[in-house]
Amino acid sequence: MKLTPEPSSHREGVHWTVRMNRRNRSAFYVLLFLAMGSHLLATGAPAWAWAALVLHYLIYPQLAYWRACRSSDQRRAEMHNMDADIVLAGIWLGALGFPLWITFIMCASGCINMVVFHGARGGVRLVVSMAAGIALAAITALPSWHPDTDLRTSLLCMLALGLYLFAFARDGYDRAMAQYQVHAQLRGQFDEIRSLQAQLREQALRDPLTGLFNRRQLDAALAPALRRCREQGTPLSVLLIDIDHFKRINDAHGHAAGDMVLQALARLLLRHARPQDLACRLGGEEFLLVLDDMPVAAAIERAQELRQAFEALRVRSEGEELAATLSCGVAAFPQHADQPQALLACADQALYTAKEQGRNRVVMWAAQAAEGTTAAA
Ligand code: GH3
Ligand code: MG
Ligand code: MG
Repeated sequence: MKLTPEPSSHREGVHWTVRMNRRNRSAFYVLLFLAMGSHLLATGAPAWAWAALVLHYLIYPQLAYWRACRSSDQRRAEMHNMDADIVLAGIWLGALGFPLWITFIMCASGCINMVVFHGARGGVRLVVSMAAGIALAAITALPSWHPDTDLRTSLLCMLALGLYLFAFARDGYDRAMAQYQVHAQLRGQFDEIRSLQAQLREQALRDPLTGLFNRRQLDAALAPALRRCREQGTPLSVLLIDIDHFKRINDAHGHAAGDMVLQALARLLLRHARPQDLACRLGGEEFLLVLDDMPVAAAIERAQELRQAFEALRVRSEGEELAATLSCGVAAFPQHADQPQALLACADQALYTAKEQGRNRVVMWAAQAAEGTTAAA
């Protein structure tokens, strides 16, 4: 019995259960024909019994197939065929006086078929159909009791059941292997989708040119970081960095050279960042460093280091050495603001002041930012 649906469940217009049962019915019924024929021979059965045997075990499987194929609901028709199989078996058992070996293999194979297709309900269906068959046999003659079979018949019954179980187990194995392969394939595809999703999530939070986090990630991360600092009573500083006269670099050396300067600054930021810091490119030539658990004085020091390192940096582009400077606005929690947007606005104002005061400097935000509290220059 093959339980695995074919790739197309209606190949050539025939439902897979119909095709599968035709194959199994044809093969198993030939074995049953031999076993039953042996029994009829041993018991000297009349000619009509032989005719019924040929009709049932050699012709009926093809008729059942033909009937199911013509049905508008082939699966349902095949389930009815299986009921008919059991009824017919019941008739034989009632008529022959329940020879034990034949009864056993018919009940066992019928039970397997019924339970495979109907679950536990199949057991009830088996009993009802079998009882119906026995009752039909009883219409012509009251059932008698002739349990014995000769050795040849018993051996043929064992062979039939053995081969049936072998075929059944082999199909179960094929089905398990096919399912295992499908599962393995699905697991592989699932892992691939998961890694692509992670990649996409990561890409959505990164700036493609520099690999730094983008504004979306900043928006997502800054508020929770501030909340944490508020709860733990720790400081947090932000450095808003803008390259000075960056447009001139683009104009003089080309956009590609400008990109290289942006990438060089990004690398510098990453080198100076601690694992808990967040380095972002907000857009254009504007960058932000979020320094978790860092008081403002240390942040200014860090900004100065960065400024000096960038000033000393030389970017090679097409044989030329490019140099640039940066301006930096510093704002800190809790001194300057305690909300993300307010903190960024403070840093922005401080950066503006740095630009106004001549660039290449670090300015900390102060209430009197207009006057410009220059931390260093
Ligand atoms: P300031 O010192 O006042 O900041 O002057 P600036 O020239 O740096 O600032 P401005 O805003 O005038 O110019 C920024 C330039 O940055 C303009 C824009 O073309 C350039 N830019 C923005 N994004 C990119 C980029 O991804 N790559 C390159 N190469 N240039 C960019
Ligand atoms: Mg600039
Ligand atoms: Mg700018």
